[in-house]
Parts: sequence; structure tokens; C-alpha cells
Amino acid sequence: MEKKLLIGAHMSISGGVFNAILAGEELGCTTIQIFTKNNNQWKAKELTSAEVDKFFEHQKRTEISPIVGHNGYLINLASSKDDIFALSKESMLVELQRAEKLGLPYLVMHPGSHLGTGEKEGIKKIAGAINWLHQKTPGYEVKICLETTAGQGNTLGYKFEQLAQIIDLVKENERMGVCYDTCHTFAAGYDIRTKKAYQDTFKEFDKVIGLGRLKVIHLNDAVKDLGSRVDRHTHIGEGKIGLEGFRLLMNDKRWEKIPKILETPKEGGTAKDIKNLSVLRSLVK
Ligand code: MN
Ligand code: MN
Ligand code: ZN
Repeated sequence: MEKKLLIGAHMSISGGVFNAILAGEELGCTTIQIFTKNNNQWKAKELTSAEVDKFFEHQKRTEISPIVGHNGYLINLASSKDDIFALSKESMLVELQRAEKLGLPYLVMHPGSHLGTGEKEGIKKIAGAINWLHQKTPGYEVKICLETTAGQGNTLGYKFEQLAQIIDLVKENERMGVCYDTCHTFAAGYDIRTKKAYQDTFKEFDKVIGLGRLKVIHLNDAVKDLGSRVDRHTHIGEGKIGLEGFRLLMNDKRWEKIPKILETPKEGGTAKDIKNLSVLRSLVK
């Protein structure tokens, strides 16, 4: 029996959320990631029930599942600026509502940037905002998944410990997951290029966060070196991680049921997505 590989790519929702499913279908994705709204604006037009119905209809037909949500780039729940912090909370609330409406099991979130107030303060702020969000959304199924980051500037989440600390401060932490981004973690200093390094990295993840929290994997090669703290994605096998790291990941039975999603550059349309997906498939033994 052929195993169904859970791989896909981030897809655009321009023209309607269901368009992302159609694009995923065309590329043979079994899972995709979407923004729940325009990722560069605070405001969003409300999702109509017709739009939601259409989304479900196409999801059912294509069997693309899960569809993972990713939050917008303006949101910063660690911000020390009161206005941005307030806008971020409200906007994240809207995103959770939209994700829940669309039946997305996970909403991937960048933990945030503390803008100079320090890591401890930032971590407290993020956890406090998540507690507020949970209170506002009782009984929701969608889980917030904190994404590992490269640690550019004052960005939090580049150490497994920081994600663990945030989760520890969240009261309803059964509603929390983690998204492992291969480019970000590599830039943050976590190596997966050899079997030994790969095993050590995930042993460390398990020790600090717990593998049970791992819900989503982002597959991106990295332009910059191990520990560079620079967040720049490139195509699978064309960066500093190289094919071996992705081979280890793709053949790791522990991630069979975890959506593995490309966020590689989209220049030139879908051709590169198709290539990256076929490279990933070719790595599976
Ligand atoms: Mn992300
Ligand atoms: Mn990512
Ligand atoms: Zn990135």
C-alpha cells in the first residue's frame, strides 16, 4: 500500500480562501497552509457563510487535510507599544475566529518581538495575551502553534526553552502546539545535517518542549549558515541545510501524521513548488 505523504505548500487565498485548495490540488498537495486573511493588513472583510461552505466543499472533494492557518505578519504579542499590542490581540482574536470557522486545526503564530524590553518581559507578555485569547474563545478546537524562529533582531522563539516558557505560562496549555521551521531552527543554531545532529536536535526538542507538542513542520532550506540568526528561506537542497537533513526528516516515522509544508520562495509561480515537492518525494525511501 502506498503511504500518503503529508506534504504541501503555503498557498495564496487571493480571490477567496477556497482558491488555496484549488492551487494545492493542482500541485498534488495532501496538506496546505493559508493565511486566514490578508497578512499585511489589520482589517479583514468578514468571511461569508457562502465562502465557508465553498471552502468545506473543496476540502471534502480534494481530501486536502489538515489545512493549517498562519497568522498575519503585523501581529506582535510581545510588543511593548500599547497600541500595537492591543491591535495585535484583537487581530489574533479575529484570526482564531476565522480559523475556527474554517475548521483549521492549527493556527501557526510567530511568538513576537520584544523591541528591546528583554526576553523575560516579552515571554510574559506573549503568554498573557494568549491567556486573554483563550478566555475569549472558550471551547475552540483550533490550537495556537508557536513557531520556532531564527532569532533575528529581538524576535523570541529561537530557543526551544523560550517556547517552553511561554507554554508553561499559558493556563489552558492543552490548546498549544509548536511549529518546527527547518530554516529558522537552523539559523538559530539547531543542526539537522547529519544523522547525529538530527537526532540530538530532536532529542533536545523532546527534552525541552516535548515531541507531543509538535504539530506542524515547515520545510525550508536556509540561505545563511548554522547559527546565523538570519531568516532567509531557499529551495530544498539549494541551501546550507542540504538534502540530507530533509531526507532524515522525510523518513522519520514520527512525523508521518504531521503536516510538512513548504514556505520556499514563490518567484516564477508554481514551478518551484512543484520541483520542491518532487525533490521531497524523491527522498522518501
Ligand atoms: Mn511563520
Ligand atoms: Mn515558517
Ligand atoms: Zn522564515
